[in-house]
Amino acid sequence: MNIRIASPTIYDSIVDGPGLRMVLWTQGCPHNCKGCHNPKTHSNNGGYEIDIKEVTKQMSNMRLQKGITFSGGEPFLQQEALKEIAIEAKNNNLDIWCYTGFTFEELLDKSNPSYFKNLNLLKYIDVLVDGRFVEEKKKFGLKFRGSTNQRIIDVQKSLKYKNIFLNENYYEKNLYEAK
Ligand code: SF4
Repeated sequence: MNIRIASPTIYDSIVDGPGLRMVLWTQGCPHNCKGCHNPKTHSNNGGYEIDIKEVTKQMSNMRLQKGITFSGGEPFLQQEALKEIAIEAKNNNLDIWCYTGFTFEELLDKSNPSYFKNLNLLKYIDVLVDGRFVEEKKKFGLKFRGSTNQRIIDVQKSLKYKNIFLNENYYEKNLYEAK
């Protein structure tokens, strides 16, 4: 199975989640946020395809990394390939963060044709940073997110209790603004 990525995978990020992390930049994004930091990731035909085995092989050789982060672009355009990578990440004891321009509610709306694919990927994700980037809500001092509307969600707790739980460890409550 292939995945389309925007740029080479990096292995030493400290800004896309806690600790040293591998980051996979997926290609393709429908959100078109004003002030997007990465417009070259928008086209579904941009970037290039790689076999997911390339990613999983690299993962099994990692020793210092705490986790893997799916970013983009919009990772939830390629849920099936990312699910396979996520399974292998868990086999390697890596935690999984994922950035998405969709909200948690949009991903799990049962009328969404991608509902099952979204759910099948979310089952493996520890932390989801959700929502579009809103330039007017960009704020100095934000950690792990671009604008204050974005939430840092504890995915497994939220799925279990069918409610949204923010991850208290990484969240600056004082900077949060309800939508
Ligand atoms: S979701 Fe991210 S990559 Fe997509 S347009 Fe918004 S800021 Fe850019």
